[in-house]
This record gives sequence, structure tokens and C-alpha cells, in this order.
Amino acid sequence: MDKYNVPLVFAVKHKDERIRMASRSGGIFTALSDYVLDRNGVVYGCILTDDLLAKHIRATSKEERDRMRGSKYIQSSLGNVFELVEDDLKANKQVLFSGTSCQVAGLQLFLGQEYSNLICVDIVCHGVPSPLIWVNYIKWQEERANSQIDNVDFRNKREFGWAAHVESLYMKNNSRVDSDVFKELFYGHDILRPCCHRCPYKSIMHPGNITIADYWGIQNAAPGFDDNKGVSLVLVNDELGNNMFNAVNDSLDYKECDIEKSLQPPLKAPFPFPDNRYQFWKDFYMQNFDYLAKKYTNFGFINKSKQFAIRLAHKLLRR
Ligand SMILES: Cc1cc2nc3c(=O)[nH]c(=O)nc-3n(C[C@H](O)[C@H](O)[C@H](O)COP(=O)(O)OP(=O)(O)OC[C@H]3O[C@@H](n4cnc5c(N)ncnc54)[C@H](O)[C@@H]3O)c2cc1C
Ligand code: SF4
Repeated sequence: MDKYNVPLVFAVKHKDERIRMASRSGGIFTALSDYVLDRNGVVYGCILTDDLLAKHIRATSKEERDRMRGSKYIQSSLGNVFELVEDDLKANKQVLFSGTSCQVAGLQLFLGQEYSNLICVDIVCHGVPSPLIWVNYIKWQEERANSQIDNVDFRNKREFGWAAHVESLYMKNNSRVDSDVFKELFYGHDILRPCCHRCPYKSIMHPGNITIADYWGIQNAAPGFDDNKGVSLVLVNDELGNNMFNAVNDSLDYKECDIEKSLQPPLKAPFPFPDNRYQFWKDFYMQNFDYLAKKYTNFGFINKSKQFAIRLAHKLLRR
């Protein structure tokens, strides 16, 4: 299907506030997937498994689909999902596949032909962290809390608001640990998969019929629309995507916006390889996680004080 030269851009909030609060941004994924499920279709997307790994699954009910809500900031495993999608398409089922842009492009290559009953929704993607680091991080947090982790909210919007990025770990002993260690490693970029630094989808052109994201820059693109409960950026990339958006927009509050005011960094260029990537991975294999957290994040009071002293010294030196 031919892509528009420039996508149509919308700021979107689901009208149902409970749905919005359960979603990462404005709840557009639920609106699109509800449409497919209400027509006995099938939805594919990423869940967090009971052993806290990201994995793509097939859903035919809203209960299963609800587990796909929320961003899991780790690489998801696809298993045999492409084969299942192909079987569903050949059985003439309506299918929605959601995932990172490279997962959507991979599915399209695997299928080798277009299907009018397939709608692809890709997410604007900062990059995916290595699951190996994630597994070690989880183990470290469990040891520190002296309890196993029951569930993870990678970005706890209910407690801290949409714009904040605080991860909450819900422990089996009923305590909650709020942390920014994994977030800081994520944004430090040492733990991203190497291919993410050469990602071909860091532009306004995407393989999905519809591309979804957090609407960073909403205050300039649509002043007054943001209430810190979540706004989705929706890029409608072609006619099929446009038909789908028109079919669900009754359930949404939305505003058409200007692409120029919507260009967050992952829509412009891949992030460069960090200079200390080699050292980070050497440390990962040679040291324990505590060492990594202290060296590469603001973890720990002593470390925080050290960082404060360094910042203060920089300030004084600049005077
Ligand atoms: C690894 C990662 C990087 C991201 N980077 C950015 C970014 O740079 N900028 C930005 O604006 N937003 C980013 N997002 C957030 C993404 O844009 C949101 O998923 C989007 O805003 C959806 O909004 P929603 O309210 O409809 O969310 P929800 O209803 O919460 O939708 C969740 C959707 O994300 C998919 N998903 C969740 N985790 C993964 C995963 N690990 N791999 C593949 N698909 C997954 C689900 O299948 C589902 O389609 C990222 C998300 C992930 C998982
Ligand atoms: S940054 Fe690009 S290559 Fe990396 S997971 Fe996201 S879409 Fe794929």
C-alpha cells in the first residue's frame, strides 16, 4: 500500500479515562484493538510474562489484549507469532499486529504479500534494551528487597503522572520499590541492542499503517490538550490506516496537528553508539550489578552526593 508523503498527525485521548489511565499514553492502541476484537478479529502484541519477560502473544479477547497495554522497555520475543499471523490472515480473520517498527517490517517481509485484512500498528521506538541486562537487574532488585517481584510497571503513570518516568516493582511481600536505575541505563543507551543505533525507522516514515507514540511536544502542538494523564501521538501513514482511524475516532478526543511540532528525537535520527559502551559491557561481565548501578546511574545516596558535589564544583569553576 502506498504511503502518504507526509503522515497525517493527530493528538489523541481515549474518551474513557479508565482506559487512558491503564495505557501508556492516550489509549489509541485500545481503541484500534477494540475495533478488531469486536469483529471477531485477532490482536497481536507484547505482554509481560509471569517470569517478567516481554513476549508477543495472540489475543482473541479483551482480557488477553489488556495485558498488552503499557510499554515494556525490553526486547520482546516473537516466538512463532509470524506463522500464527499468516494462518489467521489466510483464514480471512481481521488481524491487528502491534510492535516495534522493525517487528512490523519483519512481519511484512515474512508474509511477502499485502493482505487487506491486516492492520499494522508500530510504536515510535527509542530502542530496546537487552533482556540479559533486564534479567540481571531483576535479580539484583529481588536480592535488595529480599523478596521476589510479582509485577512491574515500567512507567508508573498513576502515581507519578504521564510525563514522569518512574518504574515501580511490586514485590511478593506486598512492598513496592520505585526505581529509576533501569530507566537511567535505558537512556544512557549502553544497554540498547546494537541494531537500534542503525535503526532505519528513525524518521517520519514507518512501516505500519498507523504509528503510535507518546505525544512529546504536545504543549506546542496542541496547547491546553495535555492533562498529564496521557496523550498519544498518532501518525496515519496510508489509506488503510486512515480508514481505521476514521472507524474508531468516535471513541476519541483528538486534534489534527502539525508534523513540524511533533518531531521528538526518535522521529529524526538513531541515537549514536555511546562512547563508553565497550567499558559498560566489560564491567557487566567483570563486576556485580551494584557496581554497574553506582557507576552508570544515580543510584545510592553516596553516589548521589558525589554527583551533587561534582555538579557544584562544575558550577563554581564556571564562575
Ligand atoms: C521499547 C519501547 C520504546 C519506546 N520508545 C518510545 C519513544 O521513543 N517515544 C515515544 O513517544 N514512545 C515510545 N514508546 C511508547 C509507545 O510509543 C507507546 O507504546 C505508545 O505511546 C502507545 O500508546 P497507548 O496509550 O496506545 O499505549 P498502550 O495501550 O499502553 O499500548 C501498548 C502497545 O505497545 C506495545 N508494546 C509494549 N511493549 C512492547 C515491546 N517491548 N515491544 C514491542 N511492542 C511493545 C504493545 O503491543 C501495544 O501495542 C516506547 C515503547 C517501547 C515498548
Ligand atoms: S530502535 Fe529500531 S531497530 Fe531498535 S527495536 Fe526499535 S525499531 Fe527496532
